Amino acid sequence: MGAMRYSAWQILKQGLTGNAGWKPIWRSPEPSPEYDVIIIGGGGHGLSTAYYLAKNHGITNVAVLEKGYIGSGNVGRNTTIVRANYYLPGNSEFYSHSLKLWEGLEADFNFNAMFSQRGIINLFHSDGQRDAFVRRGNAMVNQGDDARLLDRGELRKILPYLDYDQARFPIYGGLYHARGGSARHDAVAWGYARGADMRGVDIIQNCEVTGISIENGRVTGVETTRGPIRAKKVGMVAAGRSGRVAAMAGLRLPIESHVLQAFVSEGIKPCIDHVISFGMGHFYISQSDKGGLVFGGDLDFYATYAARGNLPMVEHVMEAGMTLMPMIGKAKVLRSWGGIMDMTPDGSPIIDKTPIDGLYVDAGWCYGGFKAVPASGWCMAHLMATDRPHDVARNFRLDRFRQGNLMDEEGTGSQHNLH
Ligand SMILES: Cc1cc2nc3c(=O)[nH]c(=O)nc-3n(C[C@H](O)[C@H](O)[C@H](O)COP(=O)(O)OP(=O)(O)OC[C@H]3O[C@@H](n4cnc5c(N)ncnc54)[C@H](O)[C@@H]3O)c2cc1C
Repeated sequence: MGAMRYSAWQILKQGLTGNAGWKPIWRSPEPSPEYDVIIIGGGGHGLSTAYYLAKNHGITNVAVLEKGYIGSGNVGRNTTIVRANYYLPGNSEFYSHSLKLWEGLEADFNFNAMFSQRGIINLFHSDGQRDAFVRRGNAMVNQGDDARLLDRGELRKILPYLDYDQARFPIYGGLYHARGGSARHDAVAWGYARGADMRGVDIIQNCEVTGISIENGRVTGVETTRGPIRAKKVGMVAAGRSGRVAAMAGLRLPIESHVLQAFVSEGIKPCIDHVISFGMGHFYISQSDKGGLVFGGDLDFYATYAARGNLPMVEHVMEAGMTLMPMIGKAKVLRSWGGIMDMTPDGSPIIDKTPIDGLYVDAGWCYGGFKAVPASGWCMAHLMATDRPHDVARNFRLDRFRQGNLMDEEGTGSQHNLH
């Protein structure tokens, strides 16, 4: 496909020859009339699905159809936290698999995604919360991942800037997940896009799918703003638009779309080494390599397709930040933005076949789908190639909502916006 392999040698060579030899990192092909596989949605999950279809299964006659540009969806809007700290069987092994893939990802797709295992600390503020975190930590260790309980003294040494003695929410300690961390979100999309393109996948931007063609219960292709395209198999991987895309095939998914906001401050000197999350309010924070404090909170709580949020949640997040670390008040907020979350009733995702032959769905990632990008693509590719669920994604079934086998990690019950 003509793409070049990146290396220190390549940087040296290009540097000495006026940097004139760098090539676009993926092609911009015209859509072919037919593919073996079409993936609807060029976000992290769609691109990683295409990448692993080609790499793991040798299926390269594949197109990823993206209505905007690569990185314009949530894969370029999230706060980039990567972790494997789930509790329930079904989720645990999936996110554990994903973290292992993250650990080898940059070497695998030959792209710098700035993956940084800076450690995640979840704070607890009561005896009950400590018990819950001990239980979660044990589940993580049983799964083969890492977890360590830090008491208040240990925590104070690592995070001296927190307010430990607030009357309302004194900090008792934290659950430390050292292998967790963050990555550069859009570079993850670019790395997967480039890796898929190098293996022959067509990445087609500005190509919106407007219809799904079905004949005798079997998918035959899609209608797009660039004309009809036939396909033997179609994967719907459209994150916040999942419900609308599935509706084109006459399906109603158990998903509500909600907006989630995030914020970044002006760049300041390095002061926050980890990812920290507050246990008594919806607030989490890390510092980007550029120096900006990157933070966020909860959903805006109403269903919408508008990728922007409202002021009450901004106020809530700022209040929680000030409660936890009053020093943050000196930093100016530079930007805020929103993204549309595909919320399921139990907060866990779906990777499954649909009742229509050849039509598959990967959706319901709620606000935790960035860390899932590698394993989701791995498992969706496995499903689409073999027609069998991958073992670590076997519980992410579409029919669990009908059968009542919910995977409710947070124990908040069947309500989309509470997960
Ligand atoms: C503010 C915020 C913070 C977050 N923080 C984290 C975090 O810290 N850690 C974490 O793990 N997760 C986080 N998430 C969640 C994570 O970003 C998402 O779960 C994940 O990115 C969704 O998968 P995706 O990358 O494939 O989505 P997207 O990038 O949204 O990809 C879907 C693509 O489908 C395209 N599409 C839709 N309809 C069509 C159509 N009809 N035709 C063609 N293309 C179509 C869209 O344009 C889009 O590009 C956060 C999300 C937000 C918004």
